[in-house]
Amino acid sequence: MADSPFDAAQFLGPESAQCPDEAANSLPAARSALDEQQTRIARWMREALACAEDAYEHAEVPVGCVIVHEEQIIGRGRNETNAMLDASGRLRATRHAELVAIDRILASGYAASVFRDCDLYVTVEPCVMCASALRQLRFRNVYFGCRNDRFGGCGSVLSIHDNLAYSADPPLRIHEGYAREEAVLWLRRFYLRENDSGER
Ligand SMILES: [Zn+2]
Repeated sequence: MADSPFDAAQFLGPESAQCPDEAANSLPAARSALDEQQTRIARWMREALACAEDAYEHAEVPVGCVIVHEEQIIGRGRNETNAMLDASGRLRATRHAELVAIDRILASGYAASVFRDCDLYVTVEPCVMCASALRQLRFRNVYFGCRNDRFGGCGSVLSIHDNLAYSADPPLRIHEGYAREEAVLWLRRFYLRENDSGER
């Protein structure tokens, strides 16, 4: 991956410079661990992209999310905000992909503490609302694709993920730039279609 957001150097560490013999042995191992991790992340991001595609097919803004616990997806979500009211007449404006996935997991019987051992993969930077929820639930890691320049809560508009003024919870570990191009393509496709239908 030419534009990988990973900084390989951080995993290889300063020891490799101090101890060349050891480095010669550990470098391939470190590389292969890094490759394995990249492959895993790419796999979960593909699953999140599939959820974004499902949102697109349902005329929702194409954002998708999966939550992974012990190498298993335990929840999936996609945006469900366009249907303004659900059957009971409640507003659905907050039904973002991340919150949909979280609610499904809680509804299936997990305690909220499970999220402390979960990684969340979402195609677009979590908004301010979702970033706050993810931090309070103390997700282990959050991986996202493209940035959300209008509403992003992980650095774009506000830095809910790590600003101590916003929360007493520990900072959220975020990793961005995974499957960025695909995430942007879905959004572009969606807005092009919206524009086309508006002109008719
Ligand atoms: Zn959100």
